[in-house]
Amino acid sequence: MKTLEELKNEDLPRCEFSRILKGETTKENKACIQEYLNEFVTPTIDRKCISCGSDLVGFLGTFRWGIEYGEGFCRECGYPARAIHCIENKDNETILKTNFFVMQYHPNTLELQE
Ligand SMILES: [Zn+2]
Repeated sequence: MKTLEELKNEDLPRCEFSRILKGETTKENKACIQEYLNEFVTPTIDRKCISCGSDLVGFLGTFRWGIEYGEGFCRECGYPARAIHCIENKDNETILKTNFFVMQYHPNTLELQE
């Protein structure tokens, strides 16, 4: 298992629109979605936890729901993730909504709790 400090030093790529979404949308919507995605790392193809390497999703997946709606974490190491996404544009209209798509937060968006 990696520490948050180690993960921050890895300079992991932030999630990019083209890596997880197909199709076209307006330039404005794309900018809103990308801004939202910047909070997360690009999910690996095998969907492993970036901290401990466990399989996050699937039959024996380690993702567990947290208390806050849509939020969760890896059961093995506690690394936070979000699985329900609702992205709005500048006019507060929903432009993208997912039911279950686990994305782990980018380490640079996290701080250790005291
Ligand atoms: Zn983990």
